[in-house]
Amino acid sequence: MSHFSAAEWYEHVSQTGSSDTNCLIESHLREGCSECRMLLEFWKEIIKIARREPNYHPPESAVQSVKEAFQPQERWRWFPQIAQLAKLLFDSLQSPVPVAVRGSTISSRQLLLEAKPFVIDLRIEQEAIRRQTRVIGQVLNAEEPARNVADVDIFLLDGERLLARTSVNGSGEFQLEFKDQEGLQLFVDIRDRKVVEILLPGSLTSGLGKAAGAE
Ligand SMILES: [Zn+2]
Repeated sequence: MSHFSAAEWYEHVSQTGSSDTNCLIESHLREGCSECRMLLEFWKEIIKIARREPNYHPPESAVQSVKEAFQPQERWRWFPQIAQLAKLLFDSLQSPVPVAVRGSTISSRQLLLEAKPFVIDLRIEQEAIRRQTRVIGQVLNAEEPARNVADVDIFLLDGERLLARTSVNGSGEFQLEFKDQEGLQLFVDIRDRKVVEILLPGSLTSGLGKAAGAE
């Protein structure tokens, strides 16, 4: 959906991009794309705040008003633009240990993902008869393993549609349940740190939507 990548916006607004891309963005904006106009304002605020760092901390009220302006109720709409794709560290499908319990109608798969310094442990259970998937996860901070990761919201998206959302408990754990479907994206919004995208396998026996591995 996005007309320009986050990197292109960053370079355009910070005036470090190529003149070709700058011209493209400018003429596109003149055509009146409202989505990109909003993105332009969004990136301007980001750059402003970034430039003030680390010497200057904007007053809390200013930060708050930016957040309110650009992270409305539907802040998940930004996630595909700003999220970092989690790197797959472990997938029980690739392990020789059988995951399905014989005779059980529920099969499960374990994934371990990383978006430094955070590690996300996921257990995906599928109930074949009800075509129902349950994701049980925990968000951990590898730099501060003794501290629980708080202020984390989890969003399940199907393209531009929000299917489910939840928040982690005091131990960084969460649980989501939904109907089996291909191509769902799970976003982990670690407030004030980063947004992490996790590609969910459509079924317990298939690979992830695309190769993980982006830093
Ligand atoms: Zn546009």
